[in-house]
Amino acid sequence: MTDYRAIPKISLHDHLDGGLRPETIVEISDAIGHKLPADNAKDLNQWFLDSCDSGSLVRYLETFEHTIAVMQSEENLARVAYEFALDLAKDGVIYGEIRWAPEQHLRNGLSLDQAVEAVEAGLAKARKEVRAEGGYLATGQLITAMRQNDKAQEIAELTVRHRNKGVVGFDYAGPEDGFSPTRHAGAFAWLNEQLMPVTLHAGEAAGRDSIRAAIVDGRTLRLGHGVRIIEDVFVDENDDNKYGFGEVATWVLERGIALELSPSSNLQTGAIPGIENPTMRDHPVVMSALNDALGQNAIQLAVSASTWSEAITLAGNGLELSGRSTSEYTRAMISAFEELGPYMVIAPGIALAHARPSSEVLSTGLSLVVLESSVEFGSERFDPVRIVFGLAAIDHDGHIDLMAGLSELLLDETKVNMLLQSDNESEVRRLLG
Ligand SMILES: [Zn+2]
Repeated sequence: MTDYRAIPKISLHDHLDGGLRPETIVEISDAIGHKLPADNAKDLNQWFLDSCDSGSLVRYLETFEHTIAVMQSEENLARVAYEFALDLAKDGVIYGEIRWAPEQHLRNGLSLDQAVEAVEAGLAKARKEVRAEGGYLATGQLITAMRQNDKAQEIAELTVRHRNKGVVGFDYAGPEDGFSPTRHAGAFAWLNEQLMPVTLHAGEAAGRDSIRAAIVDGRTLRLGHGVRIIEDVFVDENDDNKYGFGEVATWVLERGIALELSPSSNLQTGAIPGIENPTMRDHPVVMSALNDALGQNAIQLAVSASTWSEAITLAGNGLELSGRSTSEYTRAMISAFEELGPYMVIAPGIALAHARPSSEVLSTGLSLVVLESSVEFGSERFDPVRIVFGLAAIDHDGHIDLMAGLSELLLDETKVNMLLQSDNESEVRRLLG
């Protein structure tokens, strides 16, 4: 199993007030006399999980009442930020952008500037500790203005004041429907003049027009979620390969505006319309490295081969037809198999054919061949073979995500069995997704 924690990561969309340790909430609540829905960390943890999965936005938002309540002093803000950053490092994050709304932390008399400085102090302490222990962690605060509070200009100025002192950008969050960034177009224009980067929550609780406003009036460089951009993408019901983009989706695609997709959050807040109790598979944005790696014409199902070299040739053809490599590479895969043979049979019934990276590889990718009937590959452990993946890689390290995706798939017996029985490419792509 892949150790996902060990893989270095960048975290771009994480809310400070959404990532407190339950023990900390209980401790601070006791100290300040705040009443919680549970009186110990274990029950509180479960209450948070249940509330997030309840499907009710009201219950989801109630969770923040308790986290924000315990983050109202410099000391507590610094502590929460410190622990948050340590937890990021434990997850393998090397650069974390941490967003939060200082305007929600003034109940006990803190100023906006004091609040930002307190969080920075906590983050700095964590960065130092992580590095002292031989790790690496960089952080950046994203200062959020709440849509409904009409303080965008004041928060924009706060953001600019703390540039180069831990703050890296401006964010805009809160109730999306009915609170368009158009209402604060002046603040966004000002931020633009200051060359202060903006990310903006849009395309979660509202659709295409909200994303349009985020781009036009919010001048956003990234979209917080943006998942409902899918409403501006048109796919032919009968043919997945026939699709088109509306004006907004085209703009987002061509300008490379990043979508900060948070799939589990999208499921929890019901940002996937039209499906009751959606699961990850219903998420409209396919995020599978395997699917991306398998280009058009790279999948061949229920085909026949009578020898291992015929089977590998089919895998090579898939790579050639999808523009990954030349026919010379296919020949190189066969020579490599003659040399290494059984090592390429990596799991019961499954071979991964490949050759060394060379100029015969045009781009990194995969092909997939499912044979009608199995073929002997000469592997004592895993013969006979019915599934052959072809791999073309430009260099040695550029395909780690493909290997991770492949090993996950191979460990999933149900999926492998479904793959063997499938004669339909869309179904196979769903399986890989
Ligand atoms: Zn968010």
